[in-house]
Amino acid sequence: MATDEHWKQKYVKERESAEVRERDRETQTHVLERLVVRTSLAAEGQEPELDRTLAQLRDQLRKDNADLNPLRQIQDAIDRQLIALDDRKITTNRQLGATLGELVAALRSHTLFAAETKALKQLGQALKRPETLRENLLGWLAEITALETRVLSGATDQRPSTGLRERLFGRKPEASALVATGAHEGAEPKAMTAPPLALAPEPAVAAEETDHSLRFAGRVAELLEQFLQRVKLAPAAQARAEEIRRRLAQSGNWDELRYSMSELADLMVAAVSYGQQEFESFLTRLDERLAALHSHFSAQADVSANRRTASDLLERKLSDDLRALGDDVRGSTDVEHLKQSVGRHIDSISSSLAQYRDSDADREVQLRLQLEAIKAKLAAAEAQSEHMQQKLREERKRALTDVLTQLPNREAWGERLEFEYTRWQRYGHPTTLCVLDIDHFKRVNDAFGHKAGDRVIQWVAKTLQERLRNTDFAARYGGEEFVVLLPETEPDVACQVIEGLRLYVSELPFHFQGEPVQVTFSAGLSAFTPGPDATIIFDQADKALYRAKAAGRNQWVLARDDAPDQ
Ligand code: GH3
Ligand code: MG
Ligand code: MG
Repeated sequence: MATDEHWKQKYVKERESAEVRERDRETQTHVLERLVVRTSLAAEGQEPELDRTLAQLRDQLRKDNADLNPLRQIQDAIDRQLIALDDRKITTNRQLGATLGELVAALRSHTLFAAETKALKQLGQALKRPETLRENLLGWLAEITALETRVLSGATDQRPSTGLRERLFGRKPEASALVATGAHEGAEPKAMTAPPLALAPEPAVAAEETDHSLRFAGRVAELLEQFLQRVKLAPAAQARAEEIRRRLAQSGNWDELRYSMSELADLMVAAVSYGQQEFESFLTRLDERLAALHSHFSAQADVSANRRTASDLLERKLSDDLRALGDDVRGSTDVEHLKQSVGRHIDSISSSLAQYRDSDADREVQLRLQLEAIKAKLAAAEAQSEHMQQKLREERKRALTDVLTQLPNREAWGERLEFEYTRWQRYGHPTTLCVLDIDHFKRVNDAFGHKAGDRVIQWVAKTLQERLRNTDFAARYGGEEFVVLLPETEPDVACQVIEGLRLYVSELPFHFQGEPVQVTFSAGLSAFTPGPDATIIFDQADKALYRAKAAGRNQWVLARDDAPDQ
């Protein structure tokens, strides 16, 4: 009958729209699940216990019907691990603070550092608050390194009045302070026209003082080493740390100690600014996403359970009403009675449906509010993590940049070399590597002082940066040694580029204390060739450089044929 059909259709429509809403919610759940799985994969490989928990989490999420209880347990486990990580962080910070404090105390007790008493005192006081160590560590390490370098190169008297950190990180080295005069090739940088700088020679250090300084350097190295043991290093960085430590232990040369120590500090800066913080922010993000997923699951489970009960009830009620109506129609002989009965049943069905709709609308509103709250939480978490990532990016850039020259440092070089070598293995486009070393650099240091030496290094760095193509990559490998990667460049062409640089540098009219000084470099080149990694290519270029030195310097050698080409 028509009324019967009408109500049936209404009921079917009601169910269908409920199913559509159900599907929407399932889609939202899947999106959340994917987010959590992705985040959990990103956080992997840090802590074995956490890896196990994350694997469990992904297993759970891959099941068709994720169960709430295991999810809740997994979240608890992640919470516990986060707390443990926090505890470890606090302990490590305390230890790091203590070691740095000892280092500062050692520096303070040494006469060489008398001029830095005020800076050291301030540092010492700051270190007494280990809770600020994490955010300030990079700055403090850089301060100690700069202070050391300043004192040991006798530059304390020329200290500008700005803050140390500002000088280290806030500004690029002054190009106009670079030492060079005259013009060259008509395209000279501004610095070239600066008047020659008169630099005082280094104050002579008595033998006894040197001895004392070496012992002192040994002590500083020891403290730095302790410090290093407390930070977690990537395997490659660990190997480098070992090398520096060996050098520190064996060397009897004050300069070498000095450079080893600042290298060690760079390494620590890199170690501290990588891994740990990134990892912690991942964990926090994962935890937030998991909490959001969890509360979404709970809300949905409640609503689904309620809806199931409500729609079962409605179904039963409707079928009872319809059956009774049918019975009445079939058994009725009196039209008036039939009219009343139909009216009653229709009222009853109508009120059941209205009730169902109302309570479903309530549930809908409730669920929507919950979802909105979850979305808002997730958006806030994303914004927060974007901010952290930005900070990390900045710190990472700082850790990958050489302070003296503002060129990428050795850490950055390692990463880039690996990247270019992998790309070369895939596409096979010619790529050439070049190692470059300033000739008789010691003589510049000895004759005119370290400050003059530093300026030569800065100037060569600037030349590399300005004269190489944007796609080439130049880095300071250490001391007065540079490395260059020339992608998409046949070795013969790379040789021409390096020859141009060599000529340019060798013809520059440098003046120190009014004396003309010729600065030259030697270089070794090697084309990328197949191998397990780029180490061999670097070694070949390094050997070629050695040959260029042996053949008289101020020249380059290509590893392919080892023929000096001058
Ligand atoms: P060669 O032609 O064989 O390369 O001779 P060299 O004197 O240039 O080479 P060597 O490696 O014997 O000496 C390099 C010196 O460079 C040792 C160290 O005192 C000095 N040095 C290393 N890094 C720096 C730095 O950052 N600034 C200054 N001023 N000197 C540095
Ligand atoms: Mg040299
Ligand atoms: Mg050298």
